[in-house]
Amino acid sequence: MKHIDEAKINSLLDLNVSEQEIDYILKKTQLLKRLTLEESAKLLSVKEASLLKKIYNAAAYVKNRIYGKRVVMFVPLYISNLCSNSCLYCGFAANNKLTVRKKLSPQEIKEQTEILLKRGHKRILMVAGEMASSQENVNYYVDAVKAIYDAEYKGNKIKRVNINVAPMSIEQFKRLKQSGIGTYQIFQETYHDATYRKLHVAGAKSDPDNRLDAVDNAFKAGIDDVGIGPLLGLYDYRFEILAMLMHIEYLEKTYGLGPHTISVPRIEPAPGSSYADKPEYPISDEDFKKLVAVLRLSVPYTGIIMSTRETAHLRDILVNLGVSQISAESKVTPGGYEENSSCHNDKLERQFSLNDQRTLNEIVKSLLSQGLIPSFCAACYRKNRTGEHFMYLAKPGAIKHMCDINALVTLKEYLEDFATPEIKELGYNLIEEYKNKLDNASIKALDKFFKNIDNGIRDEYI
Ligand code: SAM
Ligand code: SF4
Repeated sequence: MKHIDEAKINSLLDLNVSEQEIDYILKKTQLLKRLTLEESAKLLSVKEASLLKKIYNAAAYVKNRIYGKRVVMFVPLYISNLCSNSCLYCGFAANNKLTVRKKLSPQEIKEQTEILLKRGHKRILMVAGEMASSQENVNYYVDAVKAIYDAEYKGNKIKRVNINVAPMSIEQFKRLKQSGIGTYQIFQETYHDATYRKLHVAGAKSDPDNRLDAVDNAFKAGIDDVGIGPLLGLYDYRFEILAMLMHIEYLEKTYGLGPHTISVPRIEPAPGSSYADKPEYPISDEDFKKLVAVLRLSVPYTGIIMSTRETAHLRDILVNLGVSQISAESKVTPGGYEENSSCHNDKLERQFSLNDQRTLNEIVKSLLSQGLIPSFCAACYRKNRTGEHFMYLAKPGAIKHMCDINALVTLKEYLEDFATPEIKELGYNLIEEYKNKLDNASIKALDKFFKNIDNGIRDEYI
């Protein structure tokens, strides 16, 4: 596979590392410095509980220094499960005859979005299977993005649409960028060549290099917020993490910029997939925690996304160790959001099973109880603070001041418009506590925004 030197990665697995070496690397991470591949490999080799604890503490420190108490919230919107590929682990695979196929119309997409707006969502990750014609795909995606941005509920609109869809040509990505997408997300699934070829047996996705090229094409089209990730469970997680870091090194060298976000999906059972029921390389929760912490330390300025594939318990732990964005009340079925979504029988249309079934309100409550700030902010993207410009601001920590204010503004809007009285009280207590830590200029700016919210004004940001 392009850009991936398997022999080098294999030589970095199972290293014998002393406590002194780990301490030395962890000291470097506390200066918020990016790690080398070798240093990341050494951290990944750690097995002793006492050393793991040191890694977790270091990751929590870095998370706090860069992201503060903020956790960005989003919700996936599945628009179609039509697919021409046959990924052995996925419920949407073309050869899965069990799946009931659905492709939402722009009107249906708008209606689904309205339901999500009613619940307080502001950021959507649009997801779709891959149809055989790439031109048909891109036409459909552009119409879908428009339908999402057109939706409205009592003056509330979606602020940012990220997308997780099939690879495209540079020209096609340019069209999508014009439609106003935020991040383009694409998972390599596995960076191990033989495993990739074994699991992707038909369709355009069977070529691993074509999939890697999608990231290059997106950058070349001017989409500078790109999200990548492996699907964990297909191959040795240590190999996957190091290979992804190698991919990042290539991107940094070629474009002067790495990915905006990393996702760490773990494989889940999927209807019609015996492979997903029994993946070849299952990962324990402890190893999963370790790899998230190591990623936080290796690429401190890259967002880490965690979906509802993981349990509520584990997600509550991982938001403190490095995760910066989480999804809430997800359905992985086109048309899965209904007014009373618990009644929806989506067994035969969904892509895979989910473990965190809490509502957005319940997740917000849990974050607030831990002293964390759920954020619905999309200001950077709307102010063109993306790609290199974002990193320029993020690295010296300049963005933290803006993020704090914007996050608190979006939290207050959520509390006013969507929260139960109990959550409202929790939220306002946290806002007061947090405000005390801000400098005078920030407090002044915040007070002005808050007054405007009380007067009915929404969606202000800096
Ligand atoms: N069809 C496009 C693709 O494959 O890139 C985009 C959407 S696909 C629905 C999004 C992601 O779902 C895939 O990249 C894969 O990592 C993940 N996925 C597929 N099957 C899964 C399973 N059984 N458990 C967890 N995640 C899965
Ligand atoms: Fe299709 Fe994506 Fe599922 Fe593969 S992972 S079968 S490409 S929807």
